[in-house]
Amino acid sequence: MSTSTQTHSFQAEVKELLSLMIHSLYSHREIFLRELISNASDALDKRRFEALTDASIATSDAAPRIVLECDNLAHVLRVRDNGIGMGREEVIANLGTIARSGTRKFLEAAREKQAAGLPQLIGQFGVGFYASFMVADEIVVVTRRANEPAGTRWRSKGDGEYALEDAPEAAIGTTVELFLKSRGVEEEEDSFQDFAEPRVLRDLVRRYSDFVEYPIVIDAATFGPAAGMKEDKLEDGTKVVVLNTRRPLWARPKEEVTKDEHAEFYRHLTHDWNEPFEAIHFKVEGTSEYTALLYLPAERPPGWFEGRSDKPQVSLYVRRVFIMAECEALLPQWLRFVRGVVDSQDLPLNVSREILQSNRQIPQIKKRLTKKVLDAFGACLAERREDYQKFWRNFGTTIKEGIVFDTEQREAVASIALFASSAGEDLCTLDEYLGRAPKDAKEIFYLSAADAATASRSPHLEALKAQGREVLFFVDPVDDWVLEHLHEYKEKPLVSIGRGEATWESDTAKADREEREREARPWLESMESVLGDEISRVRFSSRLKDSPAVLVDEEGTMGLHMQRVFEHTHSAAPERKRVLELNREHPLIQELERAHRDSPDRERAEAAAQLLIGQAVLAEGGALRDPVRFSRLISDLMLASSRAARPPTA
Ligand code: ADP
Ligand code: MG
Repeated sequence: MSTSTQTHSFQAEVKELLSLMIHSLYSHREIFLRELISNASDALDKRRFEALTDASIATSDAAPRIVLECDNLAHVLRVRDNGIGMGREEVIANLGTIARSGTRKFLEAAREKQAAGLPQLIGQFGVGFYASFMVADEIVVVTRRANEPAGTRWRSKGDGEYALEDAPEAAIGTTVELFLKSRGVEEEEDSFQDFAEPRVLRDLVRRYSDFVEYPIVIDAATFGPAAGMKEDKLEDGTKVVVLNTRRPLWARPKEEVTKDEHAEFYRHLTHDWNEPFEAIHFKVEGTSEYTALLYLPAERPPGWFEGRSDKPQVSLYVRRVFIMAECEALLPQWLRFVRGVVDSQDLPLNVSREILQSNRQIPQIKKRLTKKVLDAFGACLAERREDYQKFWRNFGTTIKEGIVFDTEQREAVASIALFASSAGEDLCTLDEYLGRAPKDAKEIFYLSAADAATASRSPHLEALKAQGREVLFFVDPVDDWVLEHLHEYKEKPLVSIGRGEATWESDTAKADREEREREARPWLESMESVLGDEISRVRFSSRLKDSPAVLVDEEGTMGLHMQRVFEHTHSAAPERKRVLELNREHPLIQELERAHRDSPDRERAEAAAQLLIGQAVLAEGGALRDPVRFSRLISDLMLASSRAARPPTA
């Protein structure tokens, strides 16, 4: 039998992380126990799940459970489960590195934040196991995977190295053994708890892990007289006390569940240390019976936009038995940030993903859950406006996919969407926009822009602003895509004020503009001819008040955001030909037109046109095609004007 010990170094980040945790988290160290219990419970879930398809993995030896063993003389605590266990490679991958891709980011974030923000980060980044080094000088993990003949022993002092050796005698499952630290000199009396003391453990289990589905037991003898606690007997006859009531939160009456309990259960489910933004808890009775407990997260999980989480994170239970995590049949993809549990009374226990696809109850459940989540958005919008706004900034882009893909819910999703607007800094809904619009308003105006600040300064707004009309700003890169599917809301068409003809121009203004344009046609045409391909047309505008010129998209052309996507992904985006619109009331435009009428000059017309285009591009926050030429034109202009201003020499 080989008992040779191999010593390994932790991944560099782990070292740094360990020292960070050990030194910054004294007041939170009791959470190590809930992390270990959570891991044990996950391992038991995995074993049960794998046993569905592989009978050799089932627990024939003992019922699934989590055993706490403590020796308060030797100062040792063991947390033992008969879950799935780990193979040698898994031990290295899971305990020697931080398996999550977010490690580096975690450390960066941790360096930026104060220690106060650290517990939150640790929860978010799922570094649960390492929390045990806050209370232990040394940790020994003995583990054996359910389908493997022998086990592995892992041992570390949390100081940068760990040792691995074979553990031929190991039983299936995992035992985490903690050699507890003695109290440090600097520590305060009441912040220090003896984690090898049964009563301390009992209180911690009740506080953090009461709803864990598997019994968490402790030897009744170590505990002494266990008044009022449920007793159980292990297979070998040992009498144990069951520390958790095992009543799942969702099975309790909604009114009875406190905010703290929700927060704790949410953490257990998601490994997210933040409190949930909202809990949605309901029970459905009738043809299909189930209970759902869903949570809206307050923050984006790490790696959210790297496509790590593309399935809805809802677990399916059948009559309180865990069946599967990430059950995509229960919620649409655009709600993939929703976390939680659905517990069905009437699905079969051996239900698989394939069966779910053909089951007729499932679409009904999905529809109901979607509706409940949308209702919750609506309620938050009405009652917790500021929080909702923050929530929207985190998940709005994802929710808007519902407008694109979910024809049935399109209008409902649109009604809870928030947009920036010319009315002020706050985001608003389409209904709020309509509520502020004049009674006879026929359309919903919007402007696509890189961001709200650029949009609010845009010349496109000038004429509408003067009329007191509000304009929504579509600044999210997905907005063009959304607009392809959302042509109208409550029968009002969405109209871009940066594209095509201005629908808001009065008939008399239009007639006047066309008349002026006929007169100026030779000048406009001379500009069109010098600009060549750069611009599709030059015309007079009905959008401007103060600015001399603005660029407008032709009807039916690609939007700004779509254009940017193309720029990022293709080298040859379809060309975005634009119209140069001029403000016929602006003195500069009038002057240029007069100069042309007096003595047409091709070169001057071109310089003027280039300067007007350049200004218009800068005003909408765009990039100049040829900045060198633009600045030379400006210099020439400055030179000419200062020469003109010089008093004539005798
Ligand atoms: P997380 O639970 O968020 O993945 P942890 O640091 O708590 O992160 O655990 C790291 C990994 O170690 C787990 O994902 C799991 O694969 C493995 N692990 C930890 N504890 C156990 C256990 N008791 N049984 C089996 N695997 C475990
Ligand atoms: Mg964990």
